[in-house]
Amino acid sequence: MELDERAEDLASDLGVDKEEVKADLQNLVEYSVPIDEAVQSLRRKYGDGSSGGGGAPSSKDVAEITPEDSSVTVTGVVLTAGKRSIRYQGSDHVIVEGRLADETGAIDYTAWEDFGLSPSETITAGNAGVREWDGEPELNLGESTSLSFLEESLEVPYKIGGDAQLADLQTGDRAVTIEVSVLECERKTIDGRDGETDILSGVFGDESGRLPFTNWDPAPEIEEGGSVRIENAYVQEFRGVPEVNVSEFSTVTALDREIDVGSDTATMDIGDAVATGGVYDVEVVGNLLAVRDGSGLIQRCPECYRVIQKGQCRTHGDVDGIDDLRVKAILDDGTGAVTVVLDDELTERVYGGTLEDALEQAREAMDQEVVAETIRERIVGREYRVRGHLSVDEYGANLDAETFAESDDDPAARATAFLEEVDA
Ligand SMILES: [Zn+2]
Repeated sequence: MELDERAEDLASDLGVDKEEVKADLQNLVEYSVPIDEAVQSLRRKYGDGSSGGGGAPSSKDVAEITPEDSSVTVTGVVLTAGKRSIRYQGSDHVIVEGRLADETGAIDYTAWEDFGLSPSETITAGNAGVREWDGEPELNLGESTSLSFLEESLEVPYKIGGDAQLADLQTGDRAVTIEVSVLECERKTIDGRDGETDILSGVFGDESGRLPFTNWDPAPEIEEGGSVRIENAYVQEFRGVPEVNVSEFSTVTALDREIDVGSDTATMDIGDAVATGGVYDVEVVGNLLAVRDGSGLIQRCPECYRVIQKGQCRTHGDVDGIDDLRVKAILDDGTGAVTVVLDDELTERVYGGTLEDALEQAREAMDQEVVAETIRERIVGREYRVRGHLSVDEYGANLDAETFAESDDDPAARATAFLEEVDA
């Protein structure tokens, strides 16, 4: 049992009676205190670290820290430090998140107190809590952590600061610095946690790619067509793709130079693209294996715009549907498969007619399935190059197509290209 083990470790660390520690621990856990927090508060109760009598957690190199450690003392260089406001137990807390490194490795940390951390400083964190996140250890710097700044700085084989390119950003990244062009930007009023509030949302671009963003505290510098430098942004997943979050703690500066936006999207194997868990801008090439049900001429609910069956919306019941066109097709390149979703415009192109043409074809045949059938005949079995937004969830991988074109590289040309690569 975990509690028993933790009590034993703690008792031997602190040099106190195991039964006593266990009873205390049990008590805290019964009050729903997470076990790690309970261990921390017992360390405080039994005077850990203050006596110097073997109570302080041992000093460890970053690479040695494991999720099994309950707390450690560690010395390292602050690589990044980003402030963020979170709502915890009903009130707002400002936390600082980032990475800390020594010669052996780097580790994520969260500071629950304002220690004044900033990049390139060398610190010793005494009695830093360790928790597990995604199988990796993370440091929790809190009340019971004693933090000191060292004058002598440590040399570490890691980049200091959060400079990044959009293509490198991943969900969970903190304290990033980017220089981007604002490709799209609109002001929206949302029903936030403190009532109605204005936010900006849109798309950033740089040499490496594009990513959607939300600016929670609208910065006047962020406007369509402009270029900005943003310090201390963080990345969170939204609708299956990473999104740049610009908060009240981010610094936004207008740049007086243009940021080139790369036109080359990363072309990826479908398997690799799906494995990323979502990419805002990606291109894949594959064979179109099938056109799924719910393609062709469809009807949408006028209220929620979801696709309806036989005039019935799952949420709004009997409704007067709006006619629309779309395609959901399975694209496979041998490494994986995605469902490519074509909007009305792309569907008109592959169908070779307008919505009116589709309605007329359906009326003549007295069956709207004929539209999907026509599309099937035109695209199944061919190879397509598709660029768009890939989102992945428990129902599968969807690629919302921005462009959809028959692949011009025929197999013979690809074989030649492959041979040239081998030669080189
Ligand atoms: Zn509806």
